[in-house]
Amino acid sequence: ILVCAGTGCTSSGSLKVAEALESSLAEAGLSQQAKVVKTGCFGFCRLGPIVVIYPDETFYTSVSPADAAEIVNSHLLQDRPVKRLLYHGPEAEEVIEKFRDIDFFRYQKRIALRNCGQIDPENIHEYIARDGYQALAKALTSLTPAEVIATVKASGLRGRGGGGFPTGLKWEFTANAPGEIKYVVCNADEGDPGAFMDRSILEGDPHSVLEAMAIAGYAIGAQQGYIYVRAEYPIAVERLKIAIAQARALGVLGKNIFNSGFNFDVDIRLGAGAFVCGEETALLTSIEGHRGEPRPRPPFPAVKGLWGKPTLINNVETYANIPMIILNGADWYAAMGTEKSKGTKVFAIAGKINNTGLIEVPMGTTLRQVIFEIGGGIPNGKAFKAAQTGGPSGGCLPASHLDTPIEYDSLLAAGSMMGSGGLIIMDETDCMVDIARFYLEFTVDESCGKCTPCRIGTKRMLEILERITSGQGTMADLDKLETLARNIKNSSLCGLGQSAPNPVLSTLKHFRDEYLAHIQEKR
Ligand code: SF4
Repeated sequence: ILVCAGTGCTSSGSLKVAEALESSLAEAGLSQQAKVVKTGCFGFCRLGPIVVIYPDETFYTSVSPADAAEIVNSHLLQDRPVKRLLYHGPEAEEVIEKFRDIDFFRYQKRIALRNCGQIDPENIHEYIARDGYQALAKALTSLTPAEVIATVKASGLRGRGGGGFPTGLKWEFTANAPGEIKYVVCNADEGDPGAFMDRSILEGDPHSVLEAMAIAGYAIGAQQGYIYVRAEYPIAVERLKIAIAQARALGVLGKNIFNSGFNFDVDIRLGAGAFVCGEETALLTSIEGHRGEPRPRPPFPAVKGLWGKPTLINNVETYANIPMIILNGADWYAAMGTEKSKGTKVFAIAGKINNTGLIEVPMGTTLRQVIFEIGGGIPNGKAFKAAQTGGPSGGCLPASHLDTPIEYDSLLAAGSMMGSGGLIIMDETDCMVDIARFYLEFTVDESCGKCTPCRIGTKRMLEILERITSGQGTMADLDKLETLARNIKNSSLCGLGQSAPNPVLSTLKHFRDEYLAHIQEKR
């Protein structure tokens, strides 16, 4: 009996559900025949707490502790699964549903999320039972570091944190950088509003990240890794601590791993919730114990990173793909996705959509498929208006872009960006100028203040937007807004400032009439 113990279901009471199921099993005399396993997130967050009974994969939604006795007595003792309310798009019906038959899961391809909702993340043996640490063993015993890097390069994996830089190339640069001491860093400082991809992977499958970091350490010649994770992710941090302790105890972290002579260990560093610390140079500065401000690049971290040493930095989702690539080969991974965007991508879908939650789809899947086939469409019969991808760095795409394939280049060409995977849906009642203002408020708050265009420029943009939304705006304001936006993009020091104007620019491009309506209506 799998019970979701991710942050979403935990906050809606899943731990109490697990306790009640255990009590009911004991009362029914089934404690030896059935076991309650607390897993990471299944992804269908809207319908939590979620319970799945194996081997028949019956999927129970919105389970409360009061339901436990009926599930045990009817399903387990009498082989009569209990009907539950399940939403198929906007419609809800009482059904007995199997995990694999649900549309929300059927169209997905789960690689980075392969173990989330499948294993107990606090038990390393469950990870090992699903081929865990086999990729590390393969790398250490039968591949040279150069062959590991060649495999990652040939897979076509690109950074899932937002930039989309080819991962294997980054590994090669760091491996080739001169220096005795090198570091491997995992960026788990996920900060986009509405995004929880990395948190779910760490909560549901922390060993996949540790294994990948050890493989990366072997490939580039590093012995120490750091995971920089937000302190606001207490469950992820706790499970990481448990995973690191178990990995050390079993010898898959530490000295002489698999008797190969290779030493590698991982420590956790907690971030204090500054969005800018997701920028890689600010993150490294923060690990060093300083205020998290970005540094000019070059030099890039691959050459001069943590404490001035060559440093490889990837995000959680990027690492979570690595063990599968090493185990199954580059061709297996490169066969999924599109020509320039290989593999799959995890998205947190939220906003005006029926099935909010966490999904993983092959690159090239269209926005329409994600929103209507997996997401179940727009609630309350409202019309779709826009999809916001890429968080505060991204943009809003209108209905004319619903058939845009989700991949790095087509999203950029459409005026948005992939970003780390936040996908927020707006319906016909949302004001796109308000949406742009929300994101700009966020970046104004989160600007570290180091450089003038971002510190002052985004504030001036926000003032103009506030004038427009309060009915005081003029046509000249629109020109100023666009000019300012382009100047900030071109002259800010780091990615935060360079991308801060994107939500404004994309809404000006696709929803200019709404800006004009604010100016014309309220004067
Ligand atoms: Fe700081 Fe913004 Fe400049 Fe980045 S662009 S260094 S966040 S002020």
